[in-house]
Amino acid sequence: MLAQPLITKLPNTGETIFTVMSELAAKYKAINLGQGSPDFEMNEALIELVNKAMRDGHNQYAHRNGLLRLREAIAEKVNFLYHSKIDPVKEITITPGGTYAIYTALTAVLNKGDEVIVLEPAYDSYVPNILINGAVPVLIPLVYPDYKIDWETIKARITTATKLIILNSPQNPTGKILEKTDLEQLKQIVKGTNILILSDEVYEHLVYEGREHESILKYPELFQRSFVTFSFGKVFHCTGWKTGYCIAPDSLMKEFLKIHQYNCFSTNTPFQYALASFIKDRNNYQGLGKFMQAKRDYFQNLMIETKFTPLPSFGSYFQLYRYDKISNESEIEFAKKLAKEAGVATIPVSAFYQKGKDDKVLRFCFAKKESTLKEAVNRLIDYSL
Ligand code: PMP
Repeated sequence: MLAQPLITKLPNTGETIFTVMSELAAKYKAINLGQGSPDFEMNEALIELVNKAMRDGHNQYAHRNGLLRLREAIAEKVNFLYHSKIDPVKEITITPGGTYAIYTALTAVLNKGDEVIVLEPAYDSYVPNILINGAVPVLIPLVYPDYKIDWETIKARITTATKLIILNSPQNPTGKILEKTDLEQLKQIVKGTNILILSDEVYEHLVYEGREHESILKYPELFQRSFVTFSFGKVFHCTGWKTGYCIAPDSLMKEFLKIHQYNCFSTNTPFQYALASFIKDRNNYQGLGKFMQAKRDYFQNLMIETKFTPLPSFGSYFQLYRYDKISNESEIEFAKKLAKEAGVATIPVSAFYQKGKDDKVLRFCFAKKESTLKEAVNRLIDYSL
């Protein structure tokens, strides 16, 4: 036994709603549209490439920054997509997933008392990552119901302690994407300041209706102060691979690498060989948006038969629905009831706010097989009519 109880570094962190909902899904054999992970098979050719890499003997540690061949392929891809000239030697690091890249970037630059602007609803790792570094999250809501960024409020909340702004596009959980006008506002806000940017772009290719992904990489004056994070797992339907990367200017990447080299040092080697070959073929990423939009459209069309009301989604794996025509219950109560009584697990959007906010909205993941989506919606139709 310890003489004194351990003092926790994250006193307010406990079991998350994601765990609760997954447990409920298992208990009630509910279809899990809560968790943001595909239930269909990933690309067979990519599996073959990993196999080949392992058989070819690529099973030892990779370079600290990642396999150079993969970094070069990424540099070529971002040049093609965003006309961005990135140095593969100094400005790219391959990481064990997007979440790891976010944590490493924040840990590299945040000091005690630094303020970080976070737009809510937000991916759940941001705030604990800020707190563990002794920094202070400044929480600003996106404006319901279209979840626009309130740039005036952001301006008003900037202080001398503001160190960094976190952006996420396509956004989890709302499916919102950044517009050109957002980037213009951001440029004005950071001009002449030392404010850094973390741009979480893990759903990069999953953008719908012919819209464009407004990557920070398209804006050189913003990139100069940015960490930009990506996830191969998310875009290539293999979330369990936990493989991603960070792009940042040399000066920021130097600090990133100081944390990275003593945390994991280097990322899974055979996956990197496989991805390096795979992304050289542009067809392997250019069709991803269309592929996933077909799932979104399929799901949305089925959902017309229910009393759920859709909110706009232009990217990511997610679609939000209001349920105020069905129930007045809180999001958490209603989501639990839906898992138990309808047999469909979702995530209440209130879980993406630190202090909760109940707009009677649930997040559904449509990155699923058509048969899964159909069965889930059949259950919702039976339940909500
Ligand atoms: N950022 C956002 C917004 C996400 O939704 C996710 C995945 N849930 C990640 C980062 C993490 O990606 P990875 O699985 O590669 O760590």
